[in-house]
Amino acid sequence: MGLLGKKKEKCDACNKPFDDLDECRTHMKNIHPPTKPCTKCSGLMAWERQHTQAYGNLIYVCRECDFIGEMWRYYP
Ligand SMILES: [Zn+2]
Ligand SMILES: [Zn+2]
Repeated sequence: MGLLGKKKEKCDACNKPFDDLDECRTHMKNIHPPTKPCTKCSGLMAWERQHTQAYGNLIYVCRECDFIGEMWRYYP
């Protein structure tokens, strides 16, 4: 049957589209787990989104010391 009933899965963090949910979950677990250990202190970094007009930044920021461990761009 046609493609109409097929819903694309999207990564919650970077909006990358996936054909199936398992792939999407694996991607999220490997690329952006909910938290990562901070390299500057003993705290945890969690991802959050920063928006600009043309694109968004996905950053890992430490809850304790505000260190930004990783940043990459995504398009909404
Ligand atoms: Zn992603
Ligand atoms: Zn830290």
